[in-house]
Amino acid sequence: MSSTLELVIGWLYPRLMSTYGDRGNVITIERRAQWRGYNVRVVPLDQSSTAADIHSVDIIVGGGAQDRQQEIVMRDLQGAKAEAMGDKINNGTPGVFTCGSPQLLGKYYEPALGKRIEGLGIFDLVSVHPGENTQRCIGNLVVEVTASRLGRELAEMTGTKPYLVGFENHGGRTRLGEVEALGRVVYGLGNNGEDGTEGAFYQNAIATYSHGPLLPKNPFVADWLIQTALRLKYQQAIALSPLDDSLALQGRSAMFKRLNLSLPHSV
Ligand code: GLN
Repeated sequence: MSSTLELVIGWLYPRLMSTYGDRGNVITIERRAQWRGYNVRVVPLDQSSTAADIHSVDIIVGGGAQDRQQEIVMRDLQGAKAEAMGDKINNGTPGVFTCGSPQLLGKYYEPALGKRIEGLGIFDLVSVHPGENTQRCIGNLVVEVTASRLGRELAEMTGTKPYLVGFENHGGRTRLGEVEALGRVVYGLGNNGEDGTEGAFYQNAIATYSHGPLLPKNPFVADWLIQTALRLKYQQAIALSPLDDSLALQGRSAMFKRLNLSLPHSV
């Protein structure tokens, strides 16, 4: 199958922000788009990139990072580049941002050691690491998507109630301001282990503590990103052809079973 439609994936700081296999999110979007016949380009957005490079992408993916790397990234993501990120996300460019990335796209992140890192303030959330002696939030994570539009669109795509399966590993605790949560924690700790929220959803940007990486375990989210990006770029509804996701679905059921979760009507 061939197609003239092209999808450009912007990958934030691949060398600094790719803990716990988060590059798998990039690979998943790339492959699932290629399998449907779309041309895909992956553009690293890093110290050598310009604001114009950021403007040129259709989907943005940002992975996790350690506190030290987050400082380096934020020293670079200033001025015109910071503005370009804000413009893209505020105007609905779809994206998936894991763990360290949303901490930087929020208002600020206070690391375990050292000074507060000012974030881009795109997501109305703040994150604070309570200190090196505090227990990290580590383990499997299952989340019911409650973000209203995303939940509805995922349910339309899958015909079922959308649950996300992932794995979290973070010291920072996130508190949401006016932004909608991505979901409700069914298993695990999520944003802060206290208020039951996980992640955030703003315009078409998904913030989450779910590594996994997230998309291979939840391929319908990758398809939602692809579909949303193509619709915005080409200004027409684009139906994605179905793929054989039986292995991913078996993996999800095995995890639900292992965690003793019986989730009716879920994929
Ligand atoms: N440094 C951040 C924290 O520990 C993010 C970690 C990560 O991205 N996995 O909260």
